[in-house]
Amino acid sequence: MIRPILKYGDQTLHEPAAAVDALTSEVDRLIGDMIDTMYAAPGIGLAAPQVGVALRIFVIDLSLGHDPAGLIVMVNPRFVERDGMQLEEEGCLSVPGFNATVVRPSRAVVQGLDRSGTMHEKDATGLLARAFQHEMDHLDGTLFVDRLRGVKRDLIVRRIRKLSRAGKW
Ligand SMILES: [Zn+2]
Repeated sequence: MIRPILKYGDQTLHEPAAAVDALTSEVDRLIGDMIDTMYAAPGIGLAAPQVGVALRIFVIDLSLGHDPAGLIVMVNPRFVERDGMQLEEEGCLSVPGFNATVVRPSRAVVQGLDRSGTMHEKDATGLLARAFQHEMDHLDGTLFVDRLRGVKRDLIVRRIRKLSRAGKW
């Protein structure tokens, strides 16, 4: 089931999410819905807070559903390692219409549970490393906009406020 994606300004997006206690059928349904919602958007990643659930879960698929092996589900993820630096354009389903260059480590090793509760680890570089860090940020209540410096950030925030006031956000 496709769930509505919250946008910048909604409180759930700006607060840290809680760890998942148990992989209940409700959590499994949530993960299924997150996958459906990510593919429908379409997007390459989605975190639970983006659909209004403050739990530490994200899904990523750089293939947008074209490669069955491309789907990654991470429950209660943590960074094992991060190094290097990359500077690329980034966007977010919760900040539609805006992109900005964000500095991120170029490599990230992430460990977490998969949908069945098995611990797995991914060693990622490039776009996947960026996606991991973007989604991990969501679990801590941070959006890419928050990672921008002064003027750039203010510009986007001002435009969003304007759209909000006009009822277009
Ligand atoms: Zn995002």
